[in-house]
Amino acid sequence: MRVGVLGGGQLGRMLALAGYRLGIQFRFFDPNSGAPVGQLGELIAASYDDEAALAKFCDGLDVATFEFENVPIHAARFVAERVKLYPPIASLDVAQHRLREKEFFTSLGIPTPKYAAAGDADELLRALDVTGIPAVVKTTTMGYDGKGQTVVRDRAAAESAWERIGRREAIVEELVPFDRELSMIAARDLDGREVYYPLIENEHSDGILRVSRAPVHDVSLQLRGAAEDYVRRILQSLDYIGILAVEFFQRGGELLANEMAPRVHNSGHWTIEGARTSQFENHLRAILSLPLGEADATGEAAMVNLIGEIPPLRELLSIPGAQVHLYGKAPTERRKVGHITLVGESARDVGTLAETLRRAFGTETR
Ligand code: AMP
Repeated sequence: MRVGVLGGGQLGRMLALAGYRLGIQFRFFDPNSGAPVGQLGELIAASYDDEAALAKFCDGLDVATFEFENVPIHAARFVAERVKLYPPIASLDVAQHRLREKEFFTSLGIPTPKYAAAGDADELLRALDVTGIPAVVKTTTMGYDGKGQTVVRDRAAAESAWERIGRREAIVEELVPFDRELSMIAARDLDGREVYYPLIENEHSDGILRVSRAPVHDVSLQLRGAAEDYVRRILQSLDYIGILAVEFFQRGGELLANEMAPRVHNSGHWTIEGARTSQFENHLRAILSLPLGEADATGEAAMVNLIGEIPPLRELLSIPGAQVHLYGKAPTERRKVGHITLVGESARDVGTLAETLRRAFGTETR
């Protein structure tokens, strides 16, 4: 079986590492000839506008997928006309546009932070009447890891916020004083079967995910049920195939959907060692019409992102129980270059070690 992957970052790399074990072959497409996957698979390095290269990418594939949500839609359509492409393009369309995404959640009855659209500084001011203050202003497109976002703490700052995000079409959201951030990852296959991973707790700072812990224990059955219900609505309404991740804010007993990722997700990296079937393998199983694997956790897991610099491997491997993943990327500021997963029997022990690791390795300011 040969799977084509649009995008050649660490997510594609971990998909391949999961798939090789099953005898699956991979071909990647990425504009960057130095992409991390180039070290372990066939890489077509070309622009997403290069139709000849895209046609070559499609040639002989059983199925194609993508590992980042900003794949240009025209390129995804070009591929989908030649080979099966999962998850569905409609999920890209939603995830690429923060306003469409929030409207989509609303249409499915999934609660979100209050939001309003803003096409200029005056509209931004009016949007603040809907959201209240403080609010977050986000560009509707091309934002990730906290890029293209700014917080407005008083109305007089509306004009400067509009300048700061580059005078681009924006969504304004209430700044939610959440108790914590949670995510849920699920897989759905071609026959509509679904599996749900345990709820995950995520710690971000500066807009970047630093630590994920799973399973979350101190959560009511009702809250977990709500998370599954919301994710199920998304899966079913999109006739979804593959792994989907949805990020939530927990505020008291309620969940507010922040965003969805129609792909394998950073908050699910712990599943490689910490779940019966990793998110990467289940994504491949789903898109290849193979039986989905169980998604239960095998223990208490924590994942710490390595950001901005690569610590010496010797140092990382001397941490007891650390499962080290390096992505083969050159370190630059705010860049995710690897992660460490810890799996143990005690959530407290794993959490304490993860906190130590986050302080030591998870920020640029060591
Ligand atoms: P995003 O790019 O939308 O995932 O935002 C990155 C991070 O910024 C989130 O994980 C939150 O920590 C924070 N954030 C984004 N939107 C909001 C919001 N409406 N209220 C509070 N925090 C937010």
